[in-house]
Amino acid sequence: MTVDDEILISKAVNALKNSYAPYSKIHVAASVLGSNGKVYTGVNVENSSYGLTICAERSAIVQMVSDGERNPVKIAVVTDLEDPIPPCGACRQFIAEFNPDVEIILYSASTGKMLKTRLSELFPNPFKL
Ligand SMILES: [Zn+2]
Repeated sequence: MTVDDEILISKAVNALKNSYAPYSKIHVAASVLGSNGKVYTGVNVENSSYGLTICAERSAIVQMVSDGERNPVKIAVVTDLEDPIPPCGACRQFIAEFNPDVEIILYSASTGKMLKTRLSELFPNPFKL
């Protein structure tokens, strides 16, 4: 694990408490390292109208883009479930818009299990105009 990995994971672990997940009870946080060296975090934000729910990964990417950064170089996705979980299909497409080969770290805050992958492995053919 590199220093970048540790920082990204620890920022996401700290953000987990801010997850708003009263319906699924699945708390997720994501940290994105931009090419500018800044780290952007996001959490899942559920809604009683379920389809409006926003995942942690998209939350974090929106933070990044809102700050003027458009190149994610690494993303950590953290949950308190026993096993790490990968980004959903919508998030894979959303992230691919900015870096289809971004490095992704999946981490469980409850067990310490970690997987490293790349978006191009999880999602080899993103939709592109
Ligand atoms: Zn998602």
